[in-house]
Amino acid sequence: MHVILMGPQGSGKGTQTERVRTRLNLASIATGELFRSAIKGGTGLGRQIQAVYDRGELVPDDLTVALVEERLDKLAQERSSGSTVDGVLYDGFPRTIGQADALRQALCARGEELTAVVAIDVPRERLIERLSGRRVCSTCGRVYNVVSDPPKADSICDVCGGSVIQRADDTPEAVSKRLDLYDVETAPLVDRYSNQGLVIHVDGDRPIDEVTESIVEAIQSTTGLAAASGR
Ligand SMILES: [Zn+2]
Repeated sequence: MHVILMGPQGSGKGTQTERVRTRLNLASIATGELFRSAIKGGTGLGRQIQAVYDRGELVPDDLTVALVEERLDKLAQERSSGSTVDGVLYDGFPRTIGQADALRQALCARGEELTAVVAIDVPRERLIERLSGRRVCSTCGRVYNVVSDPPKADSICDVCGGSVIQRADDTPEAVSKRLDLYDVETAPLVDRYSNQGLVIHVDGDRPIDEVTESIVEAIQSTTGLAAASGR
């Protein structure tokens, strides 16, 4: 099974990917992680991505897709040598129509297809509240939230005593700009997948556990998968 998890920054997508992946015994394909590990591994693709980063540009679709395909091949290899992963959960990919086309072709070439697209919906004002409430320790990097997870003493890190600050890209204005970009990029993708009947919307403005349950149920209902994956 191949499931895409979509959601803007602040929707809890990263957290949910990890939880849902574990619950349903899926491998994850997260492009951010693929980029980092390719760079670290010093592969040909890794060096190309490093060069893109050095120029301060976004990783182009062809490189991103090449990494995803490499990972799909590796997973297939692992499966043929006994791994029992039940499918793949995509996080942060596809991000553009071009990437979506490439994914469709890559799956088709492997005799597989997309199973479902889960969209985590959170009202924009809640996203801005969550993201602009973010504070970071300038010394050790511990992340806080003024609403949900504040430091014990105002602006002082619990861990190291460093000063807890708001980063420039976490101001409401900067956050709003990033959310606009997400909307522009992904709205056409959601539309396309909706037309194919693949999109399931999950209300992400609830406690983490409830959101996880809804996502798991949504995926299980589309795959007709029994809740066999140990709860
Ligand atoms: Zn600290």
